[in-house]
Amino acid sequence: MPMTGLTRGGAEWVPEFLVAIDPEKCIGCGRCYKVCGRGVMGLRGLTEDGDLVDADEDDEEVIKKVMVLEAAGACIGCGACARVCPSGCQSHAPA
Ligand code: SF4
Ligand code: SF4
Repeated sequence: MPMTGLTRGGAEWVPEFLVAIDPEKCIGCGRCYKVCGRGVMGLRGLTEDGDLVDADEDDEEVIKKVMVLEAAGACIGCGACARVCPSGCQSHAPA
């Protein structure tokens, strides 16, 4: 039985929590970050070796910026990030 809540009107609501972001598909556009009111995600630099570094770091090995899960436990499963992502790189699941 998944974690279930209620809407204000009393209807059943099953939250779909953000559980993963695929760094291969993410383009670091920041749309998900802007719509999330819970501070769940953060931007990082992805190096050729697959390491994640500070997004502001001037590292020659950084090939692109990607969004990562920083505080997965703060997610309320609203699904807003899924609706704005243009790359289909996020995975959501009930808890
Ligand atoms: S589902 Fe909602 S709370 Fe969770 S990461 Fe996405 S926008 Fe933030
Ligand atoms: S909206 Fe999608 S592509 Fe853009 S930063 Fe978020 S996860 Fe990456």
